[in-house]
Amino acid sequence: MKLVWKILGGVALAIALLVGVVMWRTMQFGPKADAQAAITLPEPPAVDVNAAAEMLGAAIRIQTVTTTAGDPQPGADQPWIDLHAALQARYPAIFTRMTMEKVLTHAMLMTWTGTDPSLPPVILMAHQDVVPVNPGTDADWTHGPFGGVVADGYIWGRGAMDDKGSLIAILEAGDALAKSGFSPKRTIIFAFGHDEEVSGKGAQEIFALLKSRNVTPAMVLDEGFAVLGNFPLTGKPAALIGVAEKGYISLQITATTEGGHSSRPPRESGAVRIARALVALEEKQMPADLSAPPFNEMIQGVSADLPFVTRMAFANQWLLGSVITGQVSSDASANAIVRTTTAPTMLNGSIKDNVLPQRASAVVNFRIHPNDSVASVTQHVKDVTSHIEGLTIAQYEDGIGSEPSPVSSTSSEAYRVLEAVARSTGGGPNGGNVPVAPALVIGATDARYASAISKDAIYRFAPAIYDDADLNGFHGTNERLSVDNLGRMIKGYAQIMMAMGG
Ligand SMILES: [Zn+2]
Repeated sequence: MKLVWKILGGVALAIALLVGVVMWRTMQFGPKADAQAAITLPEPPAVDVNAAAEMLGAAIRIQTVTTTAGDPQPGADQPWIDLHAALQARYPAIFTRMTMEKVLTHAMLMTWTGTDPSLPPVILMAHQDVVPVNPGTDADWTHGPFGGVVADGYIWGRGAMDDKGSLIAILEAGDALAKSGFSPKRTIIFAFGHDEEVSGKGAQEIFALLKSRNVTPAMVLDEGFAVLGNFPLTGKPAALIGVAEKGYISLQITATTEGGHSSRPPRESGAVRIARALVALEEKQMPADLSAPPFNEMIQGVSADLPFVTRMAFANQWLLGSVITGQVSSDASANAIVRTTTAPTMLNGSIKDNVLPQRASAVVNFRIHPNDSVASVTQHVKDVTSHIEGLTIAQYEDGIGSEPSPVSSTSSEAYRVLEAVARSTGGGPNGGNVPVAPALVIGATDARYASAISKDAIYRFAPAIYDDADLNGFHGTNERLSVDNLGRMIKGYAQIMMAMGG
Protein backbone atom coordinates (compact mmCIF):
# COMPACT_ATOMS: atom_id res chain seq x y z
CA MET A 1 0.00 0.00 0.00
CA LYS A 2 2.72 2.42 0.97
CA LEU A 3 4.41 1.99 -2.39
CA VAL A 4 1.15 2.74 -4.25
CA TRP A 5 0.70 5.97 -2.28
CA LYS A 6 4.28 6.95 -2.95
CA ILE A 7 3.80 6.43 -6.66
CA LEU A 8 0.51 8.32 -6.68
CA GLY A 9 2.10 11.14 -4.72
CA GLY A 10 4.96 11.28 -7.21
CA VAL A 11 2.55 11.37 -10.13
CA ALA A 12 0.51 14.13 -8.49
CA LEU A 13 3.67 16.15 -7.87
CA ALA A 14 4.77 15.65 -11.48
CA ILE A 15 1.36 16.75 -12.76
CA ALA A 16 1.40 19.79 -10.50
CA LEU A 17 4.88 20.68 -11.75
CA LEU A 18 3.80 20.15 -15.34
CA VAL A 19 0.73 22.36 -14.89
CA GLY A 20 2.92 24.95 -13.20
CA VAL A 21 5.43 24.98 -16.07
CA VAL A 22 2.65 25.12 -18.68
CA MET A 23 0.95 28.04 -16.91
CA TRP A 24 4.19 29.90 -16.32
CA ARG A 25 5.21 29.56 -19.97
CA THR A 26 1.72 30.73 -21.03
CA MET A 27 2.01 33.84 -18.85
CA GLN A 28 5.51 34.59 -20.14
CA PHE A 29 4.47 34.16 -23.79
CA GLY A 30 4.43 37.41 -25.76
CA PRO A 31 6.33 39.78 -28.02
CA LYS A 32 10.01 40.35 -27.43
CA ALA A 33 10.58 43.26 -25.06
CA ASP A 34 12.89 45.16 -27.40
CA ALA A 35 10.06 45.35 -29.94
CA GLN A 36 8.37 47.84 -27.63
CA ALA A 37 11.03 50.56 -27.92
CA ALA A 38 8.99 53.63 -28.71
CA ILE A 39 9.51 55.89 -31.71
CA THR A 40 7.85 59.28 -31.73
CA LEU A 41 6.45 59.89 -35.17
CA PRO A 42 6.70 63.33 -36.75
CA GLU A 43 3.55 65.25 -37.67
CA PRO A 44 3.27 65.33 -41.47
CA PRO A 45 2.01 68.32 -43.51
CA ALA A 46 -1.75 68.56 -44.00
CA VAL A 47 -3.17 67.18 -47.25
CA ASP A 48 -6.55 67.69 -48.97
CA VAL A 49 -7.74 64.07 -48.80
CA ASN A 50 -10.86 64.68 -50.90
CA ALA A 51 -8.77 66.07 -53.73
CA ALA A 52 -6.46 63.05 -53.39
CA ALA A 53 -9.52 60.78 -53.62
CA GLU A 54 -10.55 62.46 -56.88
CA MET A 55 -7.01 61.92 -58.19
CA LEU A 56 -7.16 58.22 -57.28
CA GLY A 57 -10.47 58.05 -59.17
CA ALA A 58 -8.80 59.63 -62.20
CA ALA A 59 -5.93 57.11 -61.99
CA ILE A 60 -8.47 54.23 -61.87
CA ARG A 61 -10.14 55.55 -65.04
CA ILE A 62 -6.83 55.12 -66.88
CA GLN A 63 -6.98 51.39 -67.62
CA THR A 64 -3.43 50.12 -67.12
CA VAL A 65 -4.54 46.48 -67.32
CA THR A 66 -1.99 43.67 -67.72
CA THR A 67 -3.10 40.15 -68.63
CA THR A 68 -0.10 38.27 -70.02
CA ALA A 69 3.66 38.54 -69.67
CA GLY A 70 5.01 41.24 -71.94
CA ASP A 71 2.05 43.58 -71.38
CA PRO A 72 1.66 46.34 -72.28
CA GLN A 73 2.29 45.22 -75.84
CA PRO A 74 3.93 47.79 -78.14
CA GLY A 75 1.23 50.11 -79.40
CA ALA A 76 -1.08 49.25 -76.51
CA ASP A 77 0.73 51.34 -73.93
CA GLN A 78 -1.23 54.58 -74.18
CA PRO A 79 -2.77 54.12 -70.68
CA TRP A 80 0.72 54.07 -69.11
CA ILE A 81 1.68 57.22 -71.02
CA ASP A 82 -1.56 58.86 -69.87
CA LEU A 83 -1.02 57.79 -66.25
CA HIS A 84 2.48 59.28 -66.16
CA ALA A 85 1.17 62.55 -67.64
CA ALA A 86 -1.66 62.73 -65.09
CA LEU A 87 0.71 62.11 -62.16
CA GLN A 88 3.18 64.68 -63.38
CA ALA A 89 0.45 67.28 -63.83
CA ARG A 90 -0.98 66.67 -60.36
CA TYR A 91 2.31 66.48 -58.41
CA PRO A 92 4.59 69.21 -59.80
CA ALA A 93 6.50 69.75 -56.54
CA ILE A 94 7.70 66.17 -56.16
CA PHE A 95 8.33 65.69 -59.88
CA THR A 96 10.55 68.78 -59.76
CA ARG A 97 12.43 67.62 -56.69
CA MET A 98 12.97 64.01 -57.80
CA THR A 99 14.88 62.84 -60.84
CA MET A 100 12.95 60.44 -63.05
CA GLU A 101 14.26 57.43 -64.92
CA LYS A 102 11.94 55.33 -67.04
CA VAL A 103 13.01 51.70 -66.87
CA LEU A 104 11.79 49.29 -69.58
CA THR A 105 9.88 52.32 -70.93
CA HIS A 106 7.12 52.46 -68.29
CA ALA A 107 8.50 51.49 -64.89
CA MET A 108 9.25 54.64 -62.88
CA LEU A 109 12.39 55.06 -60.81
CA MET A 110 12.32 58.39 -58.98
CA THR A 111 15.15 59.62 -56.78
CA TRP A 112 15.12 62.39 -54.18
CA THR A 113 18.78 62.73 -53.35
CA GLY A 114 19.36 63.28 -49.65
CA THR A 115 21.59 65.92 -48.12
CA ASP A 116 23.78 63.05 -46.90
CA PRO A 117 23.94 60.70 -49.90
CA SER A 118 26.26 58.35 -47.98
CA LEU A 119 23.28 57.15 -45.90
CA PRO A 120 21.49 54.01 -47.14
CA PRO A 121 18.32 55.13 -48.96
CA VAL A 122 14.70 54.29 -48.25
CA ILE A 123 12.73 52.83 -51.17
CA LEU A 124 8.94 53.08 -51.41
CA MET A 125 7.23 50.85 -53.97
CA ALA A 126 3.86 50.55 -55.71
CA HIS A 127 2.79 49.16 -59.05
CA GLN A 128 0.97 50.96 -61.84
CA ASP A 129 -0.85 48.05 -63.45
CA VAL A 130 -4.05 46.30 -62.42
CA VAL A 131 -5.65 42.91 -63.06
CA PRO A 132 -8.55 42.70 -65.53
CA VAL A 133 -12.17 42.45 -64.47
CA ASN A 134 -13.68 39.00 -65.09
CA PRO A 135 -15.78 39.24 -68.26
CA GLY A 136 -19.48 39.38 -67.47
CA THR A 137 -19.06 40.69 -63.91
CA ASP A 138 -19.11 44.44 -64.62
CA ALA A 139 -22.78 44.67 -63.70
CA ASP A 140 -22.09 43.18 -60.26
CA TRP A 141 -20.12 46.27 -59.27
CA THR A 142 -21.87 48.96 -57.21
CA HIS A 143 -19.98 51.49 -59.33
CA GLY A 144 -18.32 50.59 -62.63
CA PRO A 145 -14.89 48.92 -62.26
CA PHE A 146 -13.15 51.66 -64.24
CA GLY A 147 -15.42 54.56 -63.31
CA GLY A 148 -13.19 55.82 -60.49
CA VAL A 149 -16.33 57.03 -58.71
CA VAL A 150 -15.95 58.65 -55.29
CA ALA A 151 -19.15 57.92 -53.35
CA ASP A 152 -20.30 56.82 -49.89
CA GLY A 153 -16.88 57.48 -48.43
CA TYR A 154 -15.06 55.22 -50.89
CA ILE A 155 -13.08 55.45 -54.11
CA TRP A 156 -14.46 52.62 -56.26
CA GLY A 157 -12.75 50.63 -58.98
CA ARG A 158 -10.07 48.22 -60.07
CA GLY A 159 -6.75 49.22 -58.55
CA ALA A 160 -8.22 51.26 -55.68
CA MET A 161 -6.48 48.94 -53.20
CA ASP A 162 -4.16 47.01 -55.51
CA ASP A 163 -2.16 49.12 -55.95
CA LYS A 164 -3.02 52.59 -57.22
CA GLY A 165 -4.05 53.60 -53.69
CA SER A 166 -0.43 53.24 -52.59
CA LEU A 167 0.87 54.84 -55.79
CA ILE A 168 -1.27 57.94 -55.26
CA ALA A 169 -0.71 58.06 -51.48
CA ILE A 170 3.10 57.89 -51.83
CA LEU A 171 3.07 60.70 -54.41
CA GLU A 172 0.60 62.80 -52.38
CA ALA A 173 2.83 62.41 -49.32
CA GLY A 174 6.00 63.20 -51.28
CA ASP A 175 4.42 66.19 -52.99
CA ALA A 176 3.14 67.61 -49.69
CA LEU A 177 6.58 67.16 -48.11
CA ALA A 178 8.31 68.80 -51.06
CA LYS A 179 5.90 71.73 -50.89
CA SER A 180 6.45 72.07 -47.14
CA GLY A 181 10.17 72.58 -47.70
CA PHE A 182 11.14 69.18 -46.31
CA SER A 183 14.56 68.10 -47.47
CA PRO A 184 15.53 64.51 -46.64
CA LYS A 185 18.91 63.69 -45.16
CA ARG A 186 18.64 60.15 -46.49
CA THR A 187 17.94 59.63 -50.18
CA ILE A 188 14.33 58.65 -50.88
CA ILE A 189 13.58 56.48 -53.90
CA PHE A 190 10.20 55.66 -55.43
CA ALA A 191 10.08 52.46 -57.49
CA PHE A 192 6.84 52.02 -59.42
CA GLY A 193 6.75 48.86 -61.53
CA HIS A 194 4.45 48.76 -64.55
CA ASP A 195 3.69 45.03 -64.82
CA GLU A 196 3.55 43.50 -61.32
CA GLU A 197 0.41 41.52 -62.07
CA VAL A 198 2.02 39.53 -64.89
CA SER A 199 5.77 39.23 -64.42
CA GLY A 200 7.23 42.16 -62.56
CA LYS A 201 9.90 42.73 -65.20
CA GLY A 202 9.80 46.48 -64.49
CA ALA A 203 10.66 46.03 -60.80
CA GLN A 204 13.19 43.33 -61.64
CA GLU A 205 14.98 45.74 -63.98
CA ILE A 206 14.81 48.60 -61.46
CA PHE A 207 16.51 46.50 -58.78
CA ALA A 208 19.10 45.23 -61.26
CA LEU A 209 19.89 48.87 -62.03
CA LEU A 210 20.11 49.79 -58.33
CA LYS A 211 22.36 46.78 -57.75
CA SER A 212 24.68 47.95 -60.54
CA ARG A 213 24.91 51.25 -58.60
CA ASN A 214 25.73 49.41 -55.36
CA VAL A 215 22.62 50.72 -53.61
CA THR A 216 22.03 49.02 -50.24
CA PRO A 217 18.77 50.33 -48.77
CA ALA A 218 17.85 50.89 -45.13
CA MET A 219 14.25 50.04 -46.00
CA VAL A 220 12.31 48.77 -49.00
CA LEU A 221 8.54 49.05 -48.54
CA ASP A 222 6.01 47.42 -50.87
CA GLU A 223 2.41 46.18 -50.70
CA GLY A 224 1.48 42.92 -48.98
CA PHE A 225 -0.11 43.51 -45.57
CA ALA A 226 -1.90 46.24 -43.65
CA VAL A 227 -3.83 46.57 -40.40
CA LEU A 228 -6.50 43.87 -40.56
CA GLY A 229 -9.77 44.85 -38.92
CA ASN A 230 -10.48 41.21 -38.22
CA PHE A 231 -7.40 39.00 -37.94
CA PRO A 232 -8.74 35.43 -38.29
CA LEU A 233 -6.46 33.99 -35.62
CA THR A 234 -7.66 36.34 -32.90
CA GLY A 235 -10.94 37.72 -34.27
CA LYS A 236 -9.60 41.19 -33.39
CA PRO A 237 -7.63 43.88 -35.23
CA ALA A 238 -3.94 43.24 -35.83
CA ALA A 239 -1.32 45.05 -37.87
CA LEU A 240 0.79 42.68 -39.92
CA ILE A 241 4.07 43.70 -41.48
CA GLY A 242 5.23 41.30 -44.20
CA VAL A 243 8.88 40.44 -43.55
CA ALA A 244 9.12 37.65 -46.12
CA GLU A 245 7.26 36.19 -49.06
CA LYS A 246 6.96 32.67 -50.31
CA GLY A 247 8.70 31.32 -53.38
CA TYR A 248 7.01 29.69 -56.32
CA ILE A 249 7.63 26.65 -58.49
CA SER A 250 5.46 24.47 -60.71
CA LEU A 251 6.72 20.97 -61.45
CA GLN A 252 5.40 18.73 -64.19
CA ILE A 253 5.29 15.03 -63.46
CA THR A 254 5.06 12.96 -66.62
CA ALA A 255 4.45 9.23 -67.03
CA THR A 256 5.41 7.88 -70.44
CA THR A 257 3.91 4.50 -71.33
CA GLU A 258 3.07 2.53 -74.46
CA GLY A 259 -0.47 3.73 -74.93
CA GLY A 260 -2.74 1.67 -77.13
CA HIS A 261 -6.36 0.56 -77.04
CA SER A 262 -8.25 0.91 -73.78
CA SER A 263 -9.90 -2.50 -74.36
CA ARG A 264 -6.63 -4.13 -73.27
CA PRO A 265 -5.17 -1.83 -70.60
CA PRO A 266 -1.93 -2.67 -68.79
CA ARG A 267 -2.03 -3.25 -65.03
CA GLU A 268 -0.56 0.20 -64.40
CA SER A 269 -1.22 2.81 -67.05
CA GLY A 270 0.42 6.20 -67.14
CA ALA A 271 -2.71 7.80 -65.74
CA VAL A 272 -2.63 5.48 -62.72
CA ARG A 273 1.03 6.28 -62.08
CA ILE A 274 0.25 9.98 -62.10
CA ALA A 275 -2.65 9.39 -59.73
CA ARG A 276 -0.37 7.44 -57.37
CA ALA A 277 2.21 10.23 -57.50
CA LEU A 278 -0.41 12.85 -56.59
CA VAL A 279 -1.74 10.77 -53.72
CA ALA A 280 1.81 10.24 -52.44
CA LEU A 281 2.46 14.00 -52.54
CA GLU A 282 -0.84 14.73 -50.83
CA GLU A 283 -0.10 12.28 -48.04
CA LYS A 284 3.52 13.32 -47.58
CA GLN A 285 3.40 17.11 -47.44
CA MET A 286 6.49 19.20 -46.95
CA PRO A 287 7.10 19.71 -43.22
CA ALA A 288 5.37 22.44 -41.22
CA ASP A 289 7.51 24.64 -39.00
CA LEU A 290 5.77 26.56 -36.23
CA SER A 291 9.02 27.60 -34.60
CA ALA A 292 10.53 29.49 -37.55
CA PRO A 293 10.17 33.20 -38.21
CA PRO A 294 8.03 34.93 -39.13
CA PHE A 295 5.31 32.53 -37.89
CA ASN A 296 6.63 32.21 -34.34
CA GLU A 297 7.10 35.99 -34.00
CA MET A 298 3.64 36.61 -35.46
CA ILE A 299 2.05 34.38 -32.83
CA GLN A 300 4.05 36.07 -30.07
CA GLY A 301 3.07 39.50 -31.44
CA VAL A 302 -0.67 38.82 -31.23
CA SER A 303 -0.50 36.53 -28.19
CA ALA A 304 -2.37 38.89 -25.88
CA ASP A 305 -5.43 38.61 -28.13
CA LEU A 306 -5.34 34.81 -28.55
CA PRO A 307 -7.91 32.68 -26.75
CA PHE A 308 -6.29 31.33 -23.55
CA VAL A 309 -6.17 27.71 -24.69
CA THR A 310 -4.59 28.65 -28.03
CA ARG A 311 -2.04 30.81 -26.27
CA MET A 312 -1.25 28.00 -23.84
CA ALA A 313 -0.78 25.58 -26.71
CA PHE A 314 1.59 27.89 -28.63
CA ALA A 315 3.52 28.69 -25.45
CA ASN A 316 4.02 24.99 -24.77
CA GLN A 317 4.97 23.53 -28.10
CA TRP A 318 7.55 21.36 -26.33
CA LEU A 319 4.55 19.48 -24.93
CA LEU A 320 1.72 20.11 -27.40
CA GLY A 321 3.68 20.55 -30.64
CA SER A 322 2.14 17.68 -32.58
CA VAL A 323 -1.42 18.56 -31.52
CA ILE A 324 -1.06 22.19 -32.55
CA THR A 325 0.75 21.36 -35.80
CA GLY A 326 -2.20 19.15 -36.73
CA GLN A 327 -4.67 21.92 -35.91
CA VAL A 328 -2.77 24.59 -37.81
CA SER A 329 -2.33 22.30 -40.83
CA SER A 330 -6.05 21.55 -41.04
CA ASP A 331 -6.84 25.22 -41.69
CA ALA A 332 -6.03 26.22 -45.29
CA SER A 333 -4.97 29.79 -44.46
CA ALA A 334 -2.86 28.83 -41.46
CA ASN A 335 -1.36 25.86 -43.29
CA ALA A 336 -0.17 28.15 -46.08
CA ILE A 337 2.01 30.17 -43.71
CA VAL A 338 3.73 27.32 -41.89
CA ARG A 339 4.86 25.10 -44.77
CA THR A 340 5.48 24.81 -48.49
CA THR A 341 2.06 24.04 -49.95
CA THR A 342 1.41 21.37 -52.59
CA ALA A 343 -1.35 22.09 -55.13
CA PRO A 344 -1.93 19.84 -58.17
CA THR A 345 -3.38 22.13 -60.83
CA MET A 346 -3.22 20.85 -64.45
CA LEU A 347 -3.93 17.24 -65.44
CA ASN A 348 -3.40 15.77 -68.88
CA GLY A 349 -4.04 12.34 -70.35
CA SER A 350 -5.29 11.06 -73.68
CA ILE A 351 -7.59 13.01 -75.98
CA LYS A 352 -10.13 10.23 -76.51
CA ASP A 353 -12.10 8.04 -74.14
CA ASN A 354 -10.95 4.72 -75.68
CA VAL A 355 -7.29 5.63 -76.15
CA LEU A 356 -4.68 5.06 -73.44
CA PRO A 357 -2.42 8.06 -72.87
CA GLN A 358 1.16 7.70 -74.08
CA ARG A 359 2.02 10.65 -71.94
CA ALA A 360 0.02 11.35 -68.82
CA SER A 361 1.05 14.35 -66.79
CA ALA A 362 0.22 16.54 -63.83
CA VAL A 363 1.45 20.00 -62.97
CA VAL A 364 1.84 20.63 -59.26
CA ASN A 365 2.23 24.19 -57.98
CA PHE A 366 4.29 24.72 -54.84
CA ARG A 367 4.45 27.93 -52.78
CA ILE A 368 7.79 27.70 -51.07
CA HIS A 369 8.24 28.45 -47.36
CA PRO A 370 11.43 30.34 -46.38
CA ASN A 371 12.77 27.08 -44.87
CA ASP A 372 12.75 25.42 -48.32
CA SER A 373 14.06 26.17 -51.81
CA VAL A 374 13.31 25.32 -55.45
CA ALA A 375 15.96 22.58 -55.19
CA SER A 376 14.64 21.09 -51.93
CA VAL A 377 11.07 21.03 -53.25
CA THR A 378 12.19 19.30 -56.45
CA GLN A 379 14.14 16.77 -54.38
CA HIS A 380 11.11 16.19 -52.15
CA VAL A 381 8.94 15.37 -55.18
CA LYS A 382 11.56 12.94 -56.49
CA ASP A 383 11.92 11.25 -53.09
CA VAL A 384 8.19 10.92 -52.45
CA THR A 385 7.51 9.43 -55.91
CA SER A 386 10.69 7.33 -56.24
CA HIS A 387 8.75 4.08 -55.73
CA ILE A 388 6.66 4.75 -58.84
CA GLU A 389 8.19 3.57 -62.11
CA GLY A 390 8.56 5.57 -65.31
CA LEU A 391 8.09 9.11 -64.01
CA THR A 392 10.01 12.17 -65.09
CA ILE A 393 9.93 15.39 -63.07
CA ALA A 394 10.77 18.75 -64.58
CA GLN A 395 10.03 22.41 -64.11
CA TYR A 396 6.78 23.25 -65.87
CA GLU A 397 7.69 25.07 -69.08
CA ASP A 398 5.36 28.02 -68.71
CA GLY A 399 5.88 28.35 -65.00
CA ILE A 400 8.10 30.82 -63.22
CA GLY A 401 10.40 29.60 -60.51
CA SER A 402 11.39 31.91 -57.69
CA GLU A 403 13.07 31.24 -54.38
CA PRO A 404 11.38 32.37 -51.17
CA SER A 405 12.60 35.76 -50.03
CA PRO A 406 14.99 36.15 -47.14
CA VAL A 407 13.27 36.98 -43.82
CA SER A 408 13.79 40.65 -42.96
CA SER A 409 14.87 41.94 -39.57
CA THR A 410 12.36 42.79 -36.84
CA SER A 411 14.95 44.60 -34.75
CA SER A 412 16.10 47.20 -37.30
CA GLU A 413 15.29 50.91 -37.15
CA ALA A 414 13.25 50.44 -40.35
CA TYR A 415 11.05 47.83 -38.67
CA ARG A 416 10.58 49.99 -35.59
CA VAL A 417 9.46 52.93 -37.73
CA LEU A 418 6.97 50.70 -39.56
CA GLU A 419 5.81 49.28 -36.25
CA ALA A 420 5.14 52.79 -34.92
CA VAL A 421 3.30 53.77 -38.12
CA ALA A 422 1.28 50.53 -38.02
CA ARG A 423 0.34 51.12 -34.39
CA SER A 424 -0.68 54.69 -35.10
CA THR A 425 -2.63 53.61 -38.21
CA GLY A 426 -4.52 50.93 -36.27
CA GLY A 427 -5.12 53.09 -33.22
CA GLY A 428 -8.04 54.96 -34.74
CA PRO A 429 -9.48 58.16 -33.30
CA ASN A 430 -9.58 56.73 -29.79
CA GLY A 431 -5.98 55.65 -29.85
CA GLY A 432 -6.70 51.97 -29.25
CA ASN A 433 -3.72 49.70 -29.03
CA VAL A 434 -3.44 47.33 -31.95
CA PRO A 435 -0.85 44.55 -31.79
CA VAL A 436 1.82 44.69 -34.50
CA ALA A 437 3.39 41.47 -35.74
CA PRO A 438 5.66 40.31 -38.56
CA ALA A 439 4.10 37.97 -41.10
CA LEU A 440 4.70 35.88 -44.21
CA VAL A 441 3.16 37.04 -47.51
CA ILE A 442 1.89 33.97 -49.39
CA GLY A 443 1.40 35.64 -52.79
CA ALA A 444 4.11 37.19 -54.93
CA THR A 445 4.89 40.92 -54.98
CA ASP A 446 7.41 43.07 -56.84
CA ALA A 447 9.34 43.25 -53.55
CA ARG A 448 10.77 39.80 -54.26
CA TYR A 449 13.14 41.42 -56.75
CA ALA A 450 14.44 43.72 -54.03
CA SER A 451 16.33 40.77 -52.57
CA ALA A 452 18.90 41.55 -55.29
CA ILE A 453 20.01 44.48 -53.10
CA SER A 454 18.84 43.60 -49.58
CA LYS A 455 18.69 40.48 -47.44
CA ASP A 456 17.10 41.92 -44.30
CA ALA A 457 15.33 45.24 -44.94
CA ILE A 458 12.41 44.42 -47.26
CA TYR A 459 8.94 45.00 -45.81
CA ARG A 460 5.42 44.64 -47.17
CA PHE A 461 2.85 46.88 -45.51
CA ALA A 462 0.38 49.65 -46.34
CA PRO A 463 -0.73 52.03 -43.58
CA ALA A 464 -4.43 51.30 -44.01
CA ILE A 465 -7.09 49.34 -42.10
CA TYR A 466 -8.79 46.63 -44.17
CA ASP A 467 -11.94 44.88 -43.05
CA ASP A 468 -13.25 41.64 -44.56
CA ALA A 469 -15.39 43.42 -47.19
CA ASP A 470 -12.37 45.46 -48.31
CA LEU A 471 -10.27 42.30 -48.68
CA ASN A 472 -12.87 40.65 -50.94
CA GLY A 473 -12.19 43.43 -53.45
CA PHE A 474 -8.59 42.35 -54.03
CA HIS A 475 -8.67 41.05 -57.62
CA GLY A 476 -12.44 40.66 -57.12
CA THR A 477 -15.70 42.58 -57.52
CA ASN A 478 -16.25 45.95 -55.82
CA GLU A 479 -12.63 46.76 -55.17
CA ARG A 480 -12.67 50.02 -53.26
CA LEU A 481 -10.61 52.09 -50.87
CA SER A 482 -12.19 54.22 -48.19
CA VAL A 483 -11.32 57.89 -48.27
CA ASP A 484 -10.32 57.47 -44.60
CA ASN A 485 -7.83 54.79 -45.62
CA LEU A 486 -6.40 56.98 -48.34
CA GLY A 487 -5.90 59.66 -45.68
CA ARG A 488 -4.20 57.13 -43.36
CA MET A 489 -1.92 56.01 -46.19
CA ILE A 490 -0.85 59.52 -47.15
CA LYS A 491 -0.13 60.29 -43.51
CA GLY A 492 1.66 56.98 -42.92
CA TYR A 493 3.90 57.22 -45.99
CA ALA A 494 4.76 60.83 -45.10
CA GLN A 495 5.69 59.75 -41.56
CA ILE A 496 7.86 56.96 -42.93
CA MET A 497 9.68 59.39 -45.24
CA MET A 498 10.13 61.88 -42.39
CA ALA A 499 11.17 59.35 -39.74
CA MET A 500 13.53 57.48 -42.05
CA GLY A 501 14.70 60.38 -44.18
CA GLY A 502 14.67 63.24 -41.72
ZN1 LIG B 1 -0.52 44.38 -56.09
